[in-house]
Amino acid sequence: MTEAAGKINLLGLTQPEMEQFFDSIGEKRFRAGQLMKWIHHFGVDDFDAMSNVSKVLREKLKACAEIRGPEVVSEDISSDGTRKWVVRVASGSCVETVYIPQGKRGTLCVSSQAGCALDCSFCSTGKQGFNSNLTAAEVIGQVWIANKSFGSVPAKTDRAITNVVMMGMGEPLLNFDNVVAAMQLMMDDLGYGISKRRVTLSTSGVVPMIDALSKVIDVSLALSLHAPNDELRNQLVPINKKYPLAMLLESCQRYVSTLGEKRVLTIEYTLLKDVNDQIEHAEQTIALLRNIPCKINLIPFNPFPHSGYERPSNNAIRRFQDLLHQAGFSVTVRTPRGEDIDAACGQLVGQVLDRTRRSERLIALRELSDETDAPRPAAH
Ligand code: SAH
Ligand code: SF4
Repeated sequence: MTEAAGKINLLGLTQPEMEQFFDSIGEKRFRAGQLMKWIHHFGVDDFDAMSNVSKVLREKLKACAEIRGPEVVSEDISSDGTRKWVVRVASGSCVETVYIPQGKRGTLCVSSQAGCALDCSFCSTGKQGFNSNLTAAEVIGQVWIANKSFGSVPAKTDRAITNVVMMGMGEPLLNFDNVVAAMQLMMDDLGYGISKRRVTLSTSGVVPMIDALSKVIDVSLALSLHAPNDELRNQLVPINKKYPLAMLLESCQRYVSTLGEKRVLTIEYTLLKDVNDQIEHAEQTIALLRNIPCKINLIPFNPFPHSGYERPSNNAIRRFQDLLHQAGFSVTVRTPRGEDIDAACGQLVGQVLDRTRRSERLIALRELSDETDAPRPAAH
């Protein structure tokens, strides 16, 4: 449970935790469901708005609890309907949340950490280094904020948010407990009622945590592959040196096999011009994934300043897709969305964040002169 200024933040509590909370203040457990509906279905953060809760209980709750989402720094809507929120978390850093409408589907891309320690060579979040883990309230708070922006009350049909992908900033498996709690809330009918097939965790390959995940939850899994051999993957996704491909694919297969019901692994493959987009890479990918039930999502590289990489030509992207397709794989190419608001994958370092980070950097530099072990200022 998250506590700030002595008050418990109810936003990030799963149903059992909420029941435990009501137990601890000497109230009936059924209150948990009432509160959760107010918080997640109606987007309420004011106890006084909870009309089926007695005044006495509302006062009691006000004294010991709060409902606090991350602070919204900005909200942008792209010409293609994509929305992007920059939110500030307790550590003072900013993270981003992106909503992508596509036909009847509305996918929310949620962040799990401010920055990331894993330093994949083509990722702008990795370039920032690790800053902090988000709390469960900060992870689910992104869904809460987005849901509220659509008018909140969830009609069983025609929901604005139909899918959630843990593909924003950070490596979700390195913030395990908080991400699992938030994903439980996404799926809970007292939370957002999203089906387990439509909640997807994306990982760069933290093998022990993939095994741990299968013991506690059955969300869909996406693997950020990006290279079909260890030599290249070691360069692009450095955690591969610790957990190489053979080990990684085995753990993903174990995970997916526990899901049953014809569910498959999603493979994400960011295409980098002349680096991993050649015919030989497609052929190696085909051989590597031959016996793995999966669908492949190709992500043309989204450029950011000083990345040192380029997006392949449309012809090169199509060639790669065709080769995989001809080998029998289901392959989609992710169209960049919301580029006019810097919301595309790996571009999650917008103008506002740049400004924010600059001021954080100044604060960090000031602190450096006072403390010997102050955090390293975030890199640009
Ligand atoms: N840390 C997790 C989830 C967040 S990144 C992971 O790595 O899986 C979501 C996806 O975007 C990952 O597949 C990631 O490798 C990819 N990505 C990162 N930077 C990118 C960029 N600049 N262009 C295209 N895809 C990128
Ligand atoms: Fe972290 Fe994912 Fe970016 Fe790699 S791609 S640095 S794991 S956020």
